[in-house]
Amino acid sequence: MERLIYLDNAATTRVSSVALDAMLPFLKDRYGNPSSVYSVGRDAKKAIEDARSKVANALGAEPEEIYFTGSGTESNNWALKSAAELLKGKGKHIITSAIEHPAVQNTLKYLESLGYEITTLAVSQNGQISLTDLERSVRSDTIIISIMTANNEIGTILPAAEIGKIAKANGVLFHTDAVQAAGSIPIDVGEINADMLTISGHKLGGIKGVGALYIKKGIKLPPLIHGGGQERGERSGTENVAGIAALAAALEYKVSRLPLTDIAKKRDRLITELLKIPKSALTGDPINRLPGIASFVFEAIEGESMLLMLDHFGICASSGSACSSGSLDPSHVLLAIGLPHEIAHGSLRLSLSDEITDDDIDYVVEKLTDVVSKLRKMSPVWHE
Ligand SMILES: *Cc1c(COP(=O)(O)O)cnc(C)c1O
Repeated sequence: MERLIYLDNAATTRVSSVALDAMLPFLKDRYGNPSSVYSVGRDAKKAIEDARSKVANALGAEPEEIYFTGSGTESNNWALKSAAELLKGKGKHIITSAIEHPAVQNTLKYLESLGYEITTLAVSQNGQISLTDLERSVRSDTIIISIMTANNEIGTILPAAEIGKIAKANGVLFHTDAVQAAGSIPIDVGEINADMLTISGHKLGGIKGVGALYIKKGIKLPPLIHGGGQERGERSGTENVAGIAALAAALEYKVSRLPLTDIAKKRDRLITELLKIPKSALTGDPINRLPGIASFVFEAIEGESMLLMLDHFGICASSGSACSSGSLDPSHVLLAIGLPHEIAHGSLRLSLSDEITDDDIDYVVEKLTDVVSKLRKMSPVWHE
């Protein structure tokens, strides 16, 4: 079989074997509806409650603070739209960062169209917000601060604990999109003072189409999805039992293996070796960065061409984010960290899993070095 090196784990992951084992029974014999009274139904119900406890454990939460949803995107929509609705009597001002995932960014754009006011904090070259800026932006009518735990394109880990402290001191709800952070770095909702926190199954070894939202006890968010009253009336729709079991098993497994020292070592070797390519630069924070994300820009390179040539060698990577590639606009994240358009076009993200070997790293370094050099030879704008 042809060699396949999958370095796009920030886009989606393989279903981990613990997750697959956890979910299969609910696709085979234990297919009951969790709302039914007979035993295959009760089995399914119990599986959901076990999963809820596992997810709560992994995040330092109580089981009753975890709600399962249909995706990370849905969790972000629910948190923001419903908290905005809940608190509109207090104010309509929301603070966010310039590097949020579109699931937050576009939800806030929608809220803006309804009359909410959004302050978007700029970020430094490393992708960090300024806590002073954040403090200064809080007003008496501020209701939500939504800032991600870690960024999906450049791997920067943001100071969630400090952000949470500022939110708490000002009586503002703190929502954080932890889709990339969960299972990659330790997360404790109490330590970071989160009021709402989003995770997604398929970014951590679960399946696509299932997510969860942590909602701190005492906060009664109006539901986003109305119907039969599942998830204690907060998120209707017959539960994705298998997907929920997979998410919980995958997260529990990943958290049991923290810190991801081995993956971080491989990431660092990739970074050291690839920065030997002339006119290359690391994007994101060199220190506070996710263990699995190595991200770069290469001058005078067109990202799409680079991806196609890497694909030819069996290497799966991404440029910008999966959602924005295919469009000609460079990613908003790369522009926010101050990269000029033409440089942002030559971006590359390599996101690792524990399947990657040292051999794979050598192979990727060799092939990528060749690819960049070949593309530059063909480029009219490249001068040695
Ligand atoms: C992938 C991702 C999402 C969306 O999650 P889905 O489950 O794919 O909807 C949200 N935020 C971040 C940071 C992500 O990486």
